[in-house]
Amino acid sequence: MDAEMRFGCPVAKRCGGCQMIDMPYAAQLSAKQKRVEALLRPYCAVEEIVGMDNPFHYRNKTHAVLAADRRGNVLSGVYRRGTREVLPLESCLIENERADEIIRTVRSLLGRFRIPIYDEDARRGLMRHVLVRTGHVSGQIMVVLVAASPVLPRKRDFLAALLKAHPDITTVVLNVNDRSTSMVLGKRDIPLYGRGYMEDELCGKIFRISPQSFYQVNSVQTEVLYGKALELAELKGEDILLDAYCGIGTIGLAAADRCARVIGVELNPEAVKDAAHNARRNGVKNAQFFCGDAGRFLMRMAEEGRGLDVLMMDPPRSGSDEAFLRAVLTLGPRRVVYISCCPETLARDLGVLTRGGYRAVRAVPVDMFPATEHVETIVLIQKKTS
Ligand code: SAH
Repeated sequence: MDAEMRFGCPVAKRCGGCQMIDMPYAAQLSAKQKRVEALLRPYCAVEEIVGMDNPFHYRNKTHAVLAADRRGNVLSGVYRRGTREVLPLESCLIENERADEIIRTVRSLLGRFRIPIYDEDARRGLMRHVLVRTGHVSGQIMVVLVAASPVLPRKRDFLAALLKAHPDITTVVLNVNDRSTSMVLGKRDIPLYGRGYMEDELCGKIFRISPQSFYQVNSVQTEVLYGKALELAELKGEDILLDAYCGIGTIGLAAADRCARVIGVELNPEAVKDAAHNARRNGVKNAQFFCGDAGRFLMRMAEEGRGLDVLMMDPPRSGSDEAFLRAVLTLGPRRVVYISCCPETLARDLGVLTRGGYRAVRAVPVDMFPATEHVETIVLIQKKTS
């Protein structure tokens, strides 16, 4: 890697999305390394962060907010740092370039067909956001148009023109969000073209991804991350594995061939449906997925005295909770592989597990989000033997 590799983004300050974009890539990596080391110092040594050879255009999910200027021209971009004002953008150094092209086309077609843009202050108008997800291996492309109401005027003409410009789009979904919240997506999805979801391949398995489901945004590094997680799990053929906070089942399904049984638990019902579908789609017969809060689910497992050999957990930024961690101590899995996107909550949760008879053995940071301040870390936690 070229230690001086830089991004050079003209809108970095006004956008604010990439906190580290002014630093050379090597310096970003060492800053992340130091942050994780400082937080994990009481628990274990930290191995060298795994960076990317090419840290540009890694995001497989791109989100643009729509707005109209005073003259009615359609703009697309991001919210200016700390505001609800839209900073118009043509392209972005970390987003997928095909996705950026599609967003530019959507923007010009909305203008051409005079489809109204939503005004957040007046709470009037229609089109609010565009989301594009691209399949890293499959090449499939899902476009999600977020609108304030389910009726898209000149739908046929709009779709025909969009697909003519980008024949590689595999599905277009209209998502209805009529609330004034900071959430991008509303609850209702209406497929306008194609199957209403996309598929991609990860760790040799095929995954269905619905508009509402979480899917890691950096596919190249996700393979590195899951590969490392599987290595650290050291699964044995007879093991029962729990994939907690499992999303669409990626980690559990990638591990299913190496153990006797996989149990997944996830809060988002759409993601759980995707996970069950993904098990069938890949011919995996030893995996089951449950919808619910991971902490409650684990508590019930502990109360029922059920067995658990290895736990893989991948909670959101807020980390895990007391109920979950206490249940882990009761269930007593041989190994816990904690995948974390927030080293602060990771360190907090490690405190609970290490006070309860476990010790952290290895920690590996993986740079899933170049140019931003975020860092992913995997920690192997084992039961103390004595
Ligand atoms: N392991 C998956 C998803 C990780 S993201 C992957 O790598 O793709 C974290 C997931 O935790 C999200 O899918 C989110 O919906 C889920 N989640 C958040 N809070 C939860 C809770 N209390 N119980 C179970 N799942 C939860």
